[in-house]
Amino acid sequence: MITLNGLVAVCLTYVVFLFVIAFFAERSALRGQVRWLKAPLVYTLSLSIYCTAWTFYGAVGSAARSGFEYLTIYLGPSLVMVGWWWILRKLVRIGRSQRITSVADLVSSRYGKSNLLAICVTILAVIGTTPYIALQLQSVTLSFEVFAQPGVPSPEEGLRSYTALWVAFGLALFTVIFGTRNLDANERHHGVVMAIAVEAVVKLAALLAVGIFVVWGLSGGVAQTLARIDASELGSWQMDGGRWAGLTLLSAAAFLCLPRMFQVLVVESDDEGHLRTASWAFPLYLLLMSLFVVPIAVVGLDLLPAGSNPDLFVLTVPLATGQEGLAVLSFLGGFSSATSMVIVAAIALSTMVSNHIVMPIFLRLTGNGASVSGDVRHAVLLSRRLSITGVVGLGYLYYSLSGGGTALATIGLVSFAGVAQVLPAMLGGIFWRGATRMGALAGLTSGFAIWLYTLFLPSIGSGALSDAIMAQGLFGLSWLRPQALFGISGLDPLLHAFLWSMTFNVTAFFSFSLASFPSPLERLQGAQFVNVFDHSGGPRSWAGGVAQTEDLMIMAQRILGAPEAQALFEREAHRQGGRGLLPDPTPDFLETLEKELSGSVGAATAHAMVGQIVGGMSVSVEDLMAVADETAQMMEYSARLETQSNELSRTARQLREANQKLTRLSVQKDAFLTQISHELRTPMTSIRAFSEILRDSRGLTAAEHIKYASIIQDEAIRLTRLLDDLLDLSVLENGQVNLNLRQGLLCDLLDRAAAAANDGGHAVRIRRNGPNEQLMLNTDLDRLSQVFINLIANARKYCDADAPELEIRVSEKTGLLVIDFIDNGSGISVEAQDLIFEKFARVSDRQAGGAGLGLAISRQIMTRLGGEISYLPGYGGAAFRVALPRNFALAAQ
Ligand code: ADP
Repeated sequence: MITLNGLVAVCLTYVVFLFVIAFFAERSALRGQVRWLKAPLVYTLSLSIYCTAWTFYGAVGSAARSGFEYLTIYLGPSLVMVGWWWILRKLVRIGRSQRITSVADLVSSRYGKSNLLAICVTILAVIGTTPYIALQLQSVTLSFEVFAQPGVPSPEEGLRSYTALWVAFGLALFTVIFGTRNLDANERHHGVVMAIAVEAVVKLAALLAVGIFVVWGLSGGVAQTLARIDASELGSWQMDGGRWAGLTLLSAAAFLCLPRMFQVLVVESDDEGHLRTASWAFPLYLLLMSLFVVPIAVVGLDLLPAGSNPDLFVLTVPLATGQEGLAVLSFLGGFSSATSMVIVAAIALSTMVSNHIVMPIFLRLTGNGASVSGDVRHAVLLSRRLSITGVVGLGYLYYSLSGGGTALATIGLVSFAGVAQVLPAMLGGIFWRGATRMGALAGLTSGFAIWLYTLFLPSIGSGALSDAIMAQGLFGLSWLRPQALFGISGLDPLLHAFLWSMTFNVTAFFSFSLASFPSPLERLQGAQFVNVFDHSGGPRSWAGGVAQTEDLMIMAQRILGAPEAQALFEREAHRQGGRGLLPDPTPDFLETLEKELSGSVGAATAHAMVGQIVGGMSVSVEDLMAVADETAQMMEYSARLETQSNELSRTARQLREANQKLTRLSVQKDAFLTQISHELRTPMTSIRAFSEILRDSRGLTAAEHIKYASIIQDEAIRLTRLLDDLLDLSVLENGQVNLNLRQGLLCDLLDRAAAAANDGGHAVRIRRNGPNEQLMLNTDLDRLSQVFINLIANARKYCDADAPELEIRVSEKTGLLVIDFIDNGSGISVEAQDLIFEKFARVSDRQAGGAGLGLAISRQIMTRLGGEISYLPGYGGAAFRVALPRNFALAAQ
């Protein structure tokens, strides 16, 4: 009896063998020796991943339980291959011309590159496939146990999950190594495909060997076997037409939609021509796989004690009859079926998860961390690897949580019905231009929801949906019973779910498609998908004709500029030894061109552009992401440039303004100096003249003496005042004043100002409004009073009325305290009204002795106090307005 360790050793040797095969295939592909890898036979054999451990072990189990029904699972795909090969051909052509990487990518690209749809399909695929991966792990574990049992009477509790864990780990490792070696533009994995083709042979050989042994070794020939079948329960088996048709349809739909099938059928396909071979060879393969199922089941039922698991007859029959070698071969067949399924499913799912979920999140998170496209590729690889580990890990988790009890076939069919929900969106998308994103989304989600509710959740067991919901329906509504929706009961649960989910799916798909309008991108993609045979003229090589070179030239001119592009093309044409301007688009040249372009537009964009023109192919999701990444960088860069240039022009403007101001100031300074020397000179001249007279002229009368001395004194006082004013102004202008904030009543302030200014001869009569002036101020009272004194003094000095009068009006306007000083003189002419606030500006004819600084000082003071002083035109006499912000003035208590 072979020991468990021996079996593990066989397993490991087999796995190493697979690694070696994958490695050599991969190396040959790298060296360009891909001819034998691309043989139609390899393609056909790779399709055999359809037959998983479920088929290998489960078909016999199914035959033992429900007779010939298992045949439907083979019938569906055979029908597709034979009768629907034109659908497949279209899918393969679209896959190649649009560089489709997964079933989610196909649906998303068709409907305007909608990532939302891609995410939906991805989630559906992950939910639909996880139990299936768990199933494979379960079957390997079960088969291990079969061998373990005789030697170890009570297998350790941990053995199951232990085996499953190692198997899951090994599969993830294999997939990571060979499934993500490179991000080849076409997503082909020669190593994996080759390994799978070998596994296909192993499982077929194993099943045939067991079958031959059963028919000729145990039953004694074909005739006896047939007699045995007739005599068994299976002989009287009755066909249920509805279920038969339903299951055939279901497996046909699943065959097209299963992520792993799409991977080998479309993504890994190199040549549409292979379909021709596969269309007869694959049904033949399925026929051989199903040939001995019934005999094995019948003999198993006869031979083995009642209650043995029929799912394991393929193993247990040889073991029970002492055929150990055969049992090990059969074990390897099952192992092959399981591993090949998990590997391809993990590649297919991880591509979807990574492209549509992980990468978009990654790009959003690192949105502003400008990364070169190399980094993106690196990130894509990493996210693929993580996704593979995640997908296999999820399968393992499901396996260990579910305990692995359910019959193999049930899980498989539930999964089939789930992924089949993609069918309407897929077929509608490639045959009907009117199909829209909304339609696809509505169909998918409604179909998926019904599948979840009527099939998936009930299949998990009592935990997911309570018994009450199962028996009485959701919210107690009997027409919402999961297995008798809308009151249609008595149907087989699987058929019931398939029927309803598809009905809703198709109805929603069509009605929403008809009711919604496709976006321009959707229209474009729709046309390309539906009319793919018009657009893509068969396999195209990277090399093209003159027409393409011209297009390349036009594009290069646009990006590099005409002279540079022409020089590049001419140089290349010369190097190729041809005459004229246009070189042949050799791979070398295309590479050079791509490099040149990538300097300007980024590597990914350049690749996509050249690819568009030369290959006529569309851009893959990775390319798009890289392009988006580069575009974002460029936009960011140009935004930065724009900000900088804005800043520069702002600085230039500020400099220009500062320069103008400086010039103006310099002019003012000159004028000021002239003015000041003039102002100083006048009193100085008289002081000098009269002091000389006093000194030199003898015999002056006492009266004359006094007169000249007082002139000198007056002039000296004037000079001092002038210098005081100048000093004051300069302090104010430089902003060096310290405000001395105090509180005081406005009326007191005005009283004091009037007394100080109106001192001496021909005083001006002042009219005031007492009650309005009862306001408490909180400001620099001395400075404000200086302004008032100046205004009152001006009225006294310059008002030319016979009976000079000054009215002081206090009012409040929109948060401002306003004090107007209006006299009854002849006022100030319009053109002088602005001027009077300038330094040394004097406009009236009256020689009142002022230097023209009073109003300039007042304006500076008011600015410092946060208010302003202005001339009020239209009053006849001179009118000035002093306005203070209200918060400086507090209402009198
Ligand atoms: P000054 O120190 O010479 O009084 P101001 O700056 O106070 O100078 O006034 C500037 C000029 O404005 C005065 O020279 C005068 O011509 C004119 N001015 C000021 N107040 C009045 C007024 N109330 N009536 C007529 N002219 C006035």
